Amino acid sequence: MIMSKEHFLVLLILSAPFLGSYVSTILVGAGQKQSIINPVFSNCSNCGHQILLIHKIPILAYIILKGACYRCKTPISWTYITLETGFLISSVLAILVLPNQTFDRIFFAIILAWIFLPLSIFDIQKQRLPDLATIPLACAALVQGYFLPYVNFIDCLFGLILGFVLSATVSISYCKIRGQTGLGWGDVKLISAVGALIGWQFLPWFVFFASISALMYVILQIIIRGRQAGRERIPFGPFLCGSCWLVWLYSIS
Ligand SMILES: [Zn+2]
Repeated sequence: MIMSKEHFLVLLILSAPFLGSYVSTILVGAGQKQSIINPVFSNCSNCGHQILLIHKIPILAYIILKGACYRCKTPISWTYITLETGFLISSVLAILVLPNQTFDRIFFAIILAWIFLPLSIFDIQKQRLPDLATIPLACAALVQGYFLPYVNFIDCLFGLILGFVLSATVSISYCKIRGQTGLGWGDVKLISAVGALIGWQFLPWFVFFASISALMYVILQIIIRGRQAGRERIPFGPFLCGSCWLVWLYSIS
């Protein structure tokens, strides 16, 4: 029996929290130099207590355990619950926002969200965006521009060049004027990759939404925590990723 596209999307939604949990294991394991084949989450990293199968069920386990180890009460990394719920919500959202779209566009939207979510968490935790993610993303964006019918390859190529030139200019200028890094090279590569993904026409909207959401976040932090919060360096990756996903959804809908 051949699986229909609708069945495949249902399967994708059902597997989303489990995939989110597995990607969390890789992210947390990478931070602790653990093997991803023998995930760290099988045993508590603090007391070594072997985690029961029922306590590995995504989202539900986090709620039952109240976000801590069953035995020693060491908090479980927030990466798990964020990616488990994030993968689930983004896949449902993609289907709801693109109800009349073809299967390949919905599938691409889900995969894009599943790349951006761990990338955002990595940036929040490590304060950098790895080349291992941004450069393949730029290459994949150019490939989709060449093969997929709803984007133009020249627009994508120009988007990549424009994204790189503009963000690199901002990064270098800020560094020379202020004597410190404002926009990191990881951000520059991600902006270039996004330019290749959405095409140059949507680049201003992408930059606008990323900047305005980052600014709103800083203002909120100043209101909550006081003026010193405004001087702290914030990871720009999550805002770039979120903005790109929304603009890309808009561009294809
Ligand atoms: Zn423990």
